[in-house]
Amino acid sequence: MPTTRPVLPELPEGPGPSAPAADGVPQQLVDRYGRTVRDLRLSITDRCNLRCTYCMPAQGLQWLPTPDLLTTAELTRLGRIAVERLGVERIRLTGGEPLLRRDLEEIVGALSALRTSAGAKPDIALTTNGLGLEKRAAGLRAAGLDRVNISIDSLDPQDYAAITRRDRLADVLTGIAGAQEAGLAPIKVNAVAVPTTVEERAPRLLAECLRRGWQLRFIEHMPLGPRETWSSQDVVGVDQILEVLRGAGFTLTEVGRPDRRPAALWRVAAGSAVGQEHPAGTVGVIASVTAPFCSDCDRTRITADGRLMTLSLIHISEPTRLLSIS
Ligand code: SAM
Ligand code: SF4
Repeated sequence: MPTTRPVLPELPEGPGPSAPAADGVPQQLVDRYGRTVRDLRLSITDRCNLRCTYCMPAQGLQWLPTPDLLTTAELTRLGRIAVERLGVERIRLTGGEPLLRRDLEEIVGALSALRTSAGAKPDIALTTNGLGLEKRAAGLRAAGLDRVNISIDSLDPQDYAAITRRDRLADVLTGIAGAQEAGLAPIKVNAVAVPTTVEERAPRLLAECLRRGWQLRFIEHMPLGPRETWSSQDVVGVDQILEVLRGAGFTLTEVGRPDRRPAALWRVAAGSAVGQEHPAGTVGVIASVTAPFCSDCDRTRITADGRLMTLSLIHISEPTRLLSIS
């Protein structure tokens, strides 16, 4: 059903980073649980060129009509309110696949020109599947992108194709090489842990990431898609992931969850596992399901069509059509 796009209300220019709000707009985004938002995830499209089994059905989704997607100007405006007036310090661009937006460089450039009340540029990160990144990395870096997270569940081409339903691993690796060349380091890799393959896949992936100098973080499978596509049986919890890695020969020492980031980290000692030598490094686990960190979560997200959501699995708020807020 077509949705009516609300007209953007005119907001006065911000009163200046340290001036008190004269117009009743709060100077921090604090939810009803007392959590102050510092980290904003902006989904800039719902479309994707992969079909990861844990994320989308093979036929894709019913994509939002293009006019419903937030425009560059709207994304910039939301970013400005968040950074200049509400205390947000970090913005992560995500999707769908954010590289599908041709105006991504423009969006990054506009967001990186913002300044927090302390006068700092917001930290701008991109979560991407990496396809086509080699052509865009230098431009994104120049526009102000600070870091990238790239999603790869396996470095075996056949396995990768089975997970994403597309034979594109070589292209992703080219994308990562481009990101490294452009200075988008360190490369962080996201992988969703899946029960049927975790024992085989997780140790191999960690060994490879350590050898390549990439920081791997496993994510517990969350109920993000339609309800019937997720069951608690699909979740490989943090304890099982650690057991699998230790069983494969990795020596892990807990570091904790630095800086209220979602990933809890473990140091990995240099050694040998799954028949390969590996250098020292770290591995992370985002245990959103078995050890949720809701109480000190400092992030919120806006969907590609402008709905404000919490990240919590328990307290998903009713979506708000953000652009209609005056
Ligand atoms: N397309 C980009 C990518 O894959 O990196 C950005 C969007 S994707 C939705 C963002 C992250 O969510 C990816 O790291 C992906 O692995 C993860 N993800 C997708 N579906 C998930 C699920 N059901 N549970 C946990 N993580 C999921
Ligand atoms: Fe696309 Fe990312 Fe979802 Fe995979 S996880 S289907 S790359 S949006």
